[in-house]
Amino acid sequence: MLHNIGYFCPSFDKDDALNNMCMKINVLIIVLLTTLIEPSLYATLPGGPPGEGGEFPASRFYANFDTTACHYWTLGTNSFVSETSLNLAWNVNCDYIHPFNGRVTSKFGKRRRRMHYGIDIDLETGDKVQVAFEGMVRYAKYNDSYGNLVVVRHPNGLETYYAHLSALHVQAGDYVQAGDIVGLGGNTGRSYGAHLHFEIRFLGIPIDPALVIDFDKMTLRYTDVILNKRKDRIIVENAARYHQVLPGEDIYSISRLYQVQVGELCRLNHMQPDEPVLVDMRIRYQ
Ligand SMILES: [Zn+2]
Repeated sequence: MLHNIGYFCPSFDKDDALNNMCMKINVLIIVLLTTLIEPSLYATLPGGPPGEGGEFPASRFYANFDTTACHYWTLGTNSFVSETSLNLAWNVNCDYIHPFNGRVTSKFGKRRRRMHYGIDIDLETGDKVQVAFEGMVRYAKYNDSYGNLVVVRHPNGLETYYAHLSALHVQAGDYVQAGDIVGLGGNTGRSYGAHLHFEIRFLGIPIDPALVIDFDKMTLRYTDVILNKRKDRIIVENAARYHQVLPGEDIYSISRLYQVQVGELCRLNHMQPDEPVLVDMRIRYQ
């Protein structure tokens, strides 16, 4: 880009005044080019989020890591084509932290004429809000509806939203661990009274958080879930079950162990019957 800009400045090193003018033109052109590029596109150039050289979390599901729009661009449930198995936690106690230990004041679903795409948890302004799972902050700024909003994308592909915060403690690109403070509870945006509005989305599509989390026990319902499409929404189905392969085991012994046909094991694990199973491999049997 800069090489082309040099074309406008033939006697760059001779004349200081001209040099100055050229520099100004260069800056102007750079500003123009930067503003001409759609801001969201600018934030989604290959290579991941700003400051990151490698892949962003869950890049197998997402085409970009857009730090400027709160929702991932989506075709609604049309972008969700087949059932998807997600691991939520290896260790339920370490890998999931309840965002805020408060009373649920509003559930997911229809609320008057609008949809309520999250769950509201009662809190006081200034209470610490924790991120549920580890992941990378994709969005952390003010939004007219959500107020101060943090969106974190998790390695399994889920995104969690923490809205109406009074203060943001993270910024886009930060990598957070389950339990890290993402901000303080508040009453910003379209909100009547301090509360945490918490959402879970997959590919931008809202999922009822109560299908994933037991809000009474404040724990995960499953360590592994299967997401499926039903009409215009995503449902969370039977928890998947896995077997860790021990020395001497093969697909046939695992089939006998769980009373699951070899063909079914192969289908669940996208493998052939003659494919060797290796020690420590996780084989899904349900
Ligand atoms: Zn809400």
